[in-house]
Amino acid sequence: AQADAAGNVCFYTITTAHLIIDINGVTDTGITPIPNERTDTRGVPKPPPSSDFTYLYESSQPEAPYTLGGKRYLGWDPCSPITYAVNNKAGATPAQRAVLDQAILGVEQATGFDFQYVGEATGSLATSSIDANTPNGQAEAVFGFSNATFTPILGGSVIGIGGAGSGSGNNVELLRGKLYIVKGGYAIADLDDVLTNDELLGTMLHEIAHMVGLDHVSVQTEIMWDTLPNPPLTAFGVGDRNGLYNIGQPQCTAGFGGLTQAPRGAPTSLSIDMWRADTAEH
Ligand SMILES: [Zn+2]
Repeated sequence: AQADAAGNVCFYTITTAHLIIDINGVTDTGITPIPNERTDTRGVPKPPPSSDFTYLYESSQPEAPYTLGGKRYLGWDPCSPITYAVNNKAGATPAQRAVLDQAILGVEQATGFDFQYVGEATGSLATSSIDANTPNGQAEAVFGFSNATFTPILGGSVIGIGGAGSGSGNNVELLRGKLYIVKGGYAIADLDDVLTNDELLGTMLHEIAHMVGLDHVSVQTEIMWDTLPNPPLTAFGVGDRNGLYNIGQPQCTAGFGGLTQAPRGAPTSLSIDMWRADTAEH
């Protein structure tokens, strides 16, 4: 088990019969939309209503843009693309690389975010010092194929990890003094533990969803269930899609839009060590 900066612990199990610990013990219902929500969602379908989602980046800051169940949460800038690097230290096959592309597409379709590939990262995949640099420049996100050698937290039965925070650049920024946004994160799968392409797809969807801001739910039909079922889920459920819609591009409002060119300063009072470690038991 691993704890995050807030002392929360989670397990991500790979079969259906193991101990589940709900991270926050919170069942959130309903959301408060950002004011002035645009009606133009740029093609992201609004899913049927479901409250089977929770957010990951809880913050006491009043500038945290999203609210759910009376708490405030950070998210990524819904008006900007997310640049990413791929780090293939563990030697994913072309077929496994294609699975990552499939997962990225799935998150794009649910969030409206545009993930833009920058290049290959070859630096650290340790969660304390994720290296987002590529020969073509630094990315905001790193998607990694790893194992316990390169990402020590993947030791034992941990199959993946995802969240915000990396060792390069600012990970939380303040848009024009108004809204905190996440600017750095990662989603990493353990190729020693994720055995099939469907397990890899389910794991990457789960970890990227952590990275963009979803937390676990206790609903078995959702990718964000803290268990990878057998056979694995390979597409987001309706609760997942509600959560991703509500922190994705459809939330690019007048309050967000137009701010992305503003000077930014990184707040000093926020932890950037926010992630979830997901554990499998074989
Ligand atoms: Zn998880």
